Amino acid sequence: NRSSPAAEFIHEHQLDAMRIAGRRVGAGRESVIGVSNPYTGERLGSVPKASVGEVREAFAAAAAFKARLTRFERAAILNQAAAIVRERASEISALITAESGLCVKDSMYETGRVADVLLFGATEVLRDDGQIFSCDLTPQGKKRRVYTQRAPLLGAISAITPFNHPMNQVAHKVVPSVATNNRMVLKPSEKVPFSAILFADILYEAGLPPAMLSIVTGDPREIADELITNEAADLVTFTGGVAIGKHIAARAGYRRIVLELGGNDPLIVMEDADLEEASTLAVQGSYKNSGQRCTAIKRMLVHESVAAEFTERVVAKTQAWKHGDPGDPGMDMGTVIDEAAARLFEARVEEALAQGARLLAGQRREGALFAPTVLDRVRPEMTVVREETFGPVSPILTFRHIDEAIALSNGTAYGLSSSVCTNRLDYITRFVDELQVGTVNVREVPGYRLELTPFGGIKDSGLGYKEGVQEAMKSFTNLKTYSLPWH
Ligand code: NAD
Repeated sequence: NRSSPAAEFIHEHQLDAMRIAGRRVGAGRESVIGVSNPYTGERLGSVPKASVGEVREAFAAAAAFKARLTRFERAAILNQAAAIVRERASEISALITAESGLCVKDSMYETGRVADVLLFGATEVLRDDGQIFSCDLTPQGKKRRVYTQRAPLLGAISAITPFNHPMNQVAHKVVPSVATNNRMVLKPSEKVPFSAILFADILYEAGLPPAMLSIVTGDPREIADELITNEAADLVTFTGGVAIGKHIAARAGYRRIVLELGGNDPLIVMEDADLEEASTLAVQGSYKNSGQRCTAIKRMLVHESVAAEFTERVVAKTQAWKHGDPGDPGMDMGTVIDEAAARLFEARVEEALAQGARLLAGQRREGALFAPTVLDRVRPEMTVVREETFGPVSPILTFRHIDEAIALSNGTAYGLSSSVCTNRLDYITRFVDELQVGTVNVREVPGYRLELTPFGGIKDSGLGYKEGVQEAMKSFTNLKTYSLPWH
């Protein structure tokens, strides 16, 4: 009954305890949430179920601590953490792979992204974005100047993250918080809690005052409400599904909320597109991270004149996409998060087939492994495209005219990102102006971005407040103006 290296690692680093202001809390208690490897089924360990009292304690510790790190000190901590992440990339990647079933290629890529988030945090913190306004601009003017400066929030930040990028989603909350001298209480997804706890330890090791970050774990039915309504929580930042996001919006009351919710991103292929390039983007955008990216391609909208050739290439590339044991470095894709998720995709594809869609590849499931799947003759009202299908499924729909492509694209409740394959400037300018989304990527997957650049959706995908290190630093601060006489 020997345990795997990942289970050993979790045990050795005591990742089975919360981190409340740096203190290890709750290891060995009876009430825990078990975490298993989605591929092997092995139980990797467990995390404690926090009590509401423990969550309150974390917020109280956060609110009581006033962080006064200089910009130099914050940059040094973030740079040091980036160096640790790079140095330990393989063990971090192995942990992500074990708890999420993402393949090593995906988890190594994620590790690189985490180091980037830290690097951008470290460089942004050196930049003072204060503005200066002269006041003699109108006939009512005065000889004065108005200045702006940012300050951390008075209370704490409450952060809730999803399972799909176990460490990078956490980094996108924590790094901007550290960079702005805020104090954060974060609850990771109960499906992948260990990467979040390891990330906190890396920051403590890099010199972060422990009161600036707490990680609480537990059953959302017991503690989520406290995370949304604790009186010390000045801001709730949430990444996850629409239903919970809207619940938070209704429950949070008089406090700031930043919501990064689901997506239903299209790849739009016009008649002039380079089909080799478009089909490569199609499979990468659809299957990387096991199709579990908020910005994964969820619908392929293809001009009917090129649909047959595009589809043929997508099917060939799908068949060549190697999926299986996530720990095998030769694999392009591991499992999805759990068997329940894989069964849901299977059922949605089945339903679409029953309604007239045609299966061209995939639709094979073994536990939490779900083969990359291509369908055509898909209609917009089918559940597989109307709802967000958060897995490796490529539904192909056709259109005849750009107007129709734009209407189809805008015809769902979501508005996160998009990808358009064309070189025609008249098409590109229309897409940029008319697609109801947060991002339009020309000849690139919808998920393409820098960890620094503004990112986020509209409609059901979010309220338009952006993430990305720079924007998150803005939303995590209070902007103050002050004015001086200027004689
Ligand atoms: P989820 O909504 O099921 O869970 C997200 C988090 O919310 C988890 O930590 C969960 O424990 C917590 N939670 C559960 N009930 C809660 C409640 N009542 N109140 C507060 N928090 C609660 O999402 P998931 O399945 O982990 O992730 C997949 C979803 O996340 C997809 O819809 C995906 O599109 C979305 N997502 C969005 C972005 C983005 O940036 N827009 C990025 C990644 C994922």
